Amino acid sequence: MRCPFCGADDSKVIDSRLSAEADSIRRRRLCTDCTERFTTYETAELILPRLIKRDKSRAIFDENKLRASFLRALEKRPVSIDAVDSAVKGIIHKLRATGEREIPSRLVGDWVMDALHKLDEVAYVRFASVYRSFQDVNAFREEIERMEGLSDPLLKE
Ligand SMILES: [Zn+2]
Repeated sequence: MRCPFCGADDSKVIDSRLSAEADSIRRRRLCTDCTERFTTYETAELILPRLIKRDKSRAIFDENKLRASFLRALEKRPVSIDAVDSAVKGIIHKLRATGEREIPSRLVGDWVMDALHKLDEVAYVRFASVYRSFQDVNAFREEIERMEGLSDPLLKE
């Protein structure tokens, strides 16, 4: 770590401790050249990837928008807010786990579909009908048939 006083490249860590919030590590350092002391903070990279939209424009991931999509699809459905929160958390975790700086927004849409499929089938169809913007009734029916096939493999031929 470069010394901010003399610019020397070498410094020695003389103390490390976790911050009160436990989200960063505070290090006391001693410059081996000029013997000045300084402090550095180390935090985990918490920046989420940006989303690449269909028209190639970029958008910042918005947790509130994501939650709103879930709630809209789940309106009047018997699904608890805790279940919604944990689905939202799961998607944020996946976003972070990609380690990418940018990902296609379509990927997030697919994760929402997966999560809704586990939570509530009606909500899943509601979301899918908007998200996949079905062109006609047939496409929509095919999707429902596909879904029924998935939920009961014994009915599949
Ligand atoms: Zn120095």
